[in-house]
Amino acid sequence: MDNHPKKERTFVIIKPDGLQRGLVGEIIKRYERTGLKLAGLKFGIADEKKLWEHYNKDDAWFLKKGTKITEDKKAAGLPVDKEPMEYGKDIIRQLVKFMTSGPVVMIVWEGNQAAVVARKITGDTEPATSDVGTIRGDLTLDSYGISAVDDRAVRNLIHCSENVEDAKREIAIWFTEGELLNYRLVSEAILYDVNLDGILE
Ligand code: ADP
Repeated sequence: MDNHPKKERTFVIIKPDGLQRGLVGEIIKRYERTGLKLAGLKFGIADEKKLWEHYNKDDAWFLKKGTKITEDKKAAGLPVDKEPMEYGKDIIRQLVKFMTSGPVVMIVWEGNQAAVVARKITGDTEPATSDVGTIRGDLTLDSYGISAVDDRAVRNLIHCSENVEDAKREIAIWFTEGELLNYRLVSEAILYDVNLDGILE
């Protein structure tokens, strides 16, 4: 059954900071140990054009983020010389620059509620306030305050699709159908099979 709930897919990128910090194994482990299954994996330099397609934020996002940056700059006693909208757009410009600064690892995960489960493990966008136990909360420390002072995107180790619809759109940008594998894991029996006959001898 191709559309069984266990076939849900989501998308993760280990950003250049994750790779430079030597956290590729640790990050993959945290997703993998939940039972999520690898469906696709890529290592390389992200294409800039595809990154712009990937980060297709709307005006509401630019405004919300830009307003917060304006507040953070004022709080830090820094000059505010742009409209909030422009500060919001700067985030994606800075992010694209950062994302192409070094190798990244792209991963498609598959499993029940893959999108929700992966988001939960990833943690909130700002590492300084992400929950303990999440990748962003445990493994790094960046904040909006310091990224606004230094005019850069927040460094939070990973991108993780927000929901299934976003995951579908993003996976199609980065992977061809043929690069995604369908196969069985022995451990899936204990996660999903209705009948466990045959275990007891
Ligand atoms: P997420 O990656 O948690 O889904 P968003 O899609 O809202 O978060 O933002 C995309 C990326 O833009 C974030 O991962 C982060 O690197 C960067 N970013 C978001 N908000 C800010 C901000 N206020 N200041 C600096 N960078 C930000």
